[in-house]
Amino acid sequence: MEDAGKTSPKQETYAAPEDAKGEKSVSEKAHPPPTPMMAQYIEIKSANHDSLLFYRMGDFYELFFHDAEIASRALGIALTKRGKHAGQDIPMCGVPIHAADDYLQKLIALGHRVAVCEQLENPAEAKKRGSKAVVRRDVTRLVTPATITEEKLLEPSRANWLVALGRVKGEEQLAIAAIDISTGGFRISKTTLATLLSDLQRVDPSELIVPEGLFHDRVFKSVKSVFGRLVQPLPNELFSSSDGDRRLKRFFDIDTLAGAGEFTRSELSAAGGALAYIEKTQIAEKPSLQLPQRDGDADILLLDAATRTNLELERTLSGNREGSLLRCMDRTVTAGGSRMLAERLRAPLVDTVEINARLDAVSWAMAQSAKCDDIRSTLKGFPDVPRALSRLSLNRGGPRDMLAIHRGLDIAARMSTDRPGGLPSACKSIWEKLASTPKNVHQQLTAVLDDEVPLLARDGGFVRSGFDNELDEQRKLRDDSRRVIAGLQAKYADETGVKSLKIKHNNVLGYFIEVTALNASALSDTDEAKAQYIHRQTLANQMRFTTTELAELETKIANAAGRALEIELAIFDKMLAEIVHEADAIRDISDAIFELDVHTSLAELALAEGYCRPLIDDGLAFQIVGARHPVVEQALRKQAADPFVSNDCDLSPVGSSTQGAIKLLTGPNMGGKSTYLRQNALIAIMAQCGSFVPAASAHIGVVHQIFSRVGASDDLAQGRSTFMVEMVETAAILNQATDRALVILDEIGRGTATFDGLSIAWATLEYLHENNKCRALFATHFHELTALANTLAHVSNLTMKVREWEGDLVFLHQVGEGAADRSYGVQVARLAGLPGQVVSRALDVLDQLEAQGRDTNASKLIDDLPLFSAAKHAPAPIAQDANPVLAALDEVLPDELTPREALDALYRLKALQHGK
Ligand code: ATP
Repeated sequence: MEDAGKTSPKQETYAAPEDAKGEKSVSEKAHPPPTPMMAQYIEIKSANHDSLLFYRMGDFYELFFHDAEIASRALGIALTKRGKHAGQDIPMCGVPIHAADDYLQKLIALGHRVAVCEQLENPAEAKKRGSKAVVRRDVTRLVTPATITEEKLLEPSRANWLVALGRVKGEEQLAIAAIDISTGGFRISKTTLATLLSDLQRVDPSELIVPEGLFHDRVFKSVKSVFGRLVQPLPNELFSSSDGDRRLKRFFDIDTLAGAGEFTRSELSAAGGALAYIEKTQIAEKPSLQLPQRDGDADILLLDAATRTNLELERTLSGNREGSLLRCMDRTVTAGGSRMLAERLRAPLVDTVEINARLDAVSWAMAQSAKCDDIRSTLKGFPDVPRALSRLSLNRGGPRDMLAIHRGLDIAARMSTDRPGGLPSACKSIWEKLASTPKNVHQQLTAVLDDEVPLLARDGGFVRSGFDNELDEQRKLRDDSRRVIAGLQAKYADETGVKSLKIKHNNVLGYFIEVTALNASALSDTDEAKAQYIHRQTLANQMRFTTTELAELETKIANAAGRALEIELAIFDKMLAEIVHEADAIRDISDAIFELDVHTSLAELALAEGYCRPLIDDGLAFQIVGARHPVVEQALRKQAADPFVSNDCDLSPVGSSTQGAIKLLTGPNMGGKSTYLRQNALIAIMAQCGSFVPAASAHIGVVHQIFSRVGASDDLAQGRSTFMVEMVETAAILNQATDRALVILDEIGRGTATFDGLSIAWATLEYLHENNKCRALFATHFHELTALANTLAHVSNLTMKVREWEGDLVFLHQVGEGAADRSYGVQVARLAGLPGQVVSRALDVLDQLEAQGRDTNASKLIDDLPLFSAAKHAPAPIAQDANPVLAALDEVLPDELTPREALDALYRLKALQHGK
């Protein structure tokens, strides 16, 4: 990766250096000038020095010089050389056109940008300008992570946002513009420096462009450290707000932006920057985009960056998608549905009417489960229409993209005629959109496209026969002629007596007759034969001939095939124009289908997992009965482990109070505290997305912010230690949480000395209670804090239940009222396999500390504790005798057991494991 985006340093080696007087240096004089082709390459590369240049030569994209070295290393392809430049070999490597997508994908994933340079004419056209003329070439497209549209390069279930930031002097707020050219999405939203990071994480950009000024500003450091190489600084001029206004109007060909709403100057700056970048990378092609839609600030549940990460909404802490909440919830059957669900999870709602409308749709789908099964099996066939549409609008699409749109419209049309009764409002609007399928495009595609079509239009053969008379005629001519050729071959073989005579075709000779050298005399030994068979070529073992008849036939075939293709391409272009004209309507229909997919998939999830419909209102209740952690529950089931233990959680204000409750949770390590905290936050998020939740019942007064501070992690990139990260996150919570927040704090103050940590946790809890006044769950191993329940009115204690059995711990994972008096840390450490000596020594220290009333005075401890070897607690190996299961296992003699006895032994071991 060290080379990503650094393709320019060697740029100067391409240039022919001149001295101050403009004369060639001595070394240059000694070297011949570059060939015309190399001169062309150098010129194009100089204009695209920050990208790897894919230089088209026939059926390959070639890379030269430093680009070739980078690409050969990155792609694992052979590095060769081609000619010399300035006395040095020119390194070269190449990728075949047909496999270019795969190579592009690798390079983009590694953080490179690629400039694709195409041939703009064929060699014959170039030759007309002189025998030495080079084929005209130029860059037609810059390929960057957020401007790709190829199916192979895109992740189906992930949107691909290009995000631009806009900042204007005099305006406090910044703006975010996000464009997904693969689907046509265009969003604009406001942000502030304080919320920038979390707002950007919500959008999850594939590429982030920012004005240079902002990029170098100190305040931007945290964004750079999170998004790393995705961030690209661009000249400030690209983000001028007045140009932004003009650019938007020009792009959408409108006189006023009023239809899209009022935009601030920062918003125009961001939107203008994003469009400028699209124009720069797509060169001559213009993607079809929606008018920018504004993301409201007020109607989204605020989840800051740390919370999104900690709650593992889309990725686990180790970066995997598997194990995230999204993966566990996603039962969608279309790629677009999966993208929409991810967006909903990223931006849960706070408007109870909207949330309940979504929940109504899920309830309806559950009640109609048989109907919904049909709907879902129909939706399964719905292709990724917006992405096909985007490729077509960028002139990168082919007949298969048209076929995808046709199949999509077909499904939409079929569904619209089968409108179920009793639809809730969220579903009514879906069927209204489906009813507006653009009929002419649909009908025409039905008439035009064959059932099987090629990838590329230039391969022809995608127009259905019977659609165009002339096309049918030319095809017949072409195909008949081929049959005639087969006839000719038989005739010539008969006439000459050479049974092995073949008529073949290649690009140089066209059609020719081929015989082995031994048989060649049959076509050339008589005058008559000489007059008929015209010699074309002699190879080592073969001779090739033609005849006037064959040449005439060839022209006829070529003409017919050429004309047929011409007609097909004209039909393709006409269809393309009509599709692009209806782009908005086609996108609307796709959105309706994806929305239906999301609702029905959530219904499927709720039915399969036994979720309940949450009661959502504007109060402050938070009463979850029988709550489960959605991800852990599924994971335990997959491992065939004991089922998840459900727990209640009630943070509702008590009696006539208007302040939510704070629960302080203590209990053993591994007892399930973090799981409990997280499951309640996840349930709130799921509910406000419009999903049913893993609980027996749930009543949630809508939450406006969720903050979580969970676990410990260093952020070395930003120069923050574990404790510093913990404190920064805690500060953010205490400074921002309102009474509508839900706060999850797990083990505050653990990264420092015991008393400092305890003091911080103590003060934090008091501050939450007195100032933030929000609903909160606070897990801690500082048991001293439980005393606060006596003095703070809204704080009460919960504990994770545990049972000790013959010196071992049995985790019950049950939450109950009350406080734990210890954390059983040493016992858990023993279970983890800490050496017996360490465990026993730890128990000694613990005994001593407890005897001293937890006074951690080290010198006193050293005086009072015997030497390591003289430990009071005998080194307790985690041995068989301490563990009844291992002890029982030790007694089992497998070779002497009957199958029945083996099974019984297994049952006994299981029973022992559960303490029975
Ligand atoms: P520590 O204090 O050491 O961080 P903890 O109390 O936060 O521990 P968790 O990490 O929440 O404990 O849970 C430990 C393990 O227990 C989890 O990995 C999970 O598999 C299991 N577990 C937690 N809660 C439950 C539950 N309700 N039902 C079944 N298993 C559970």
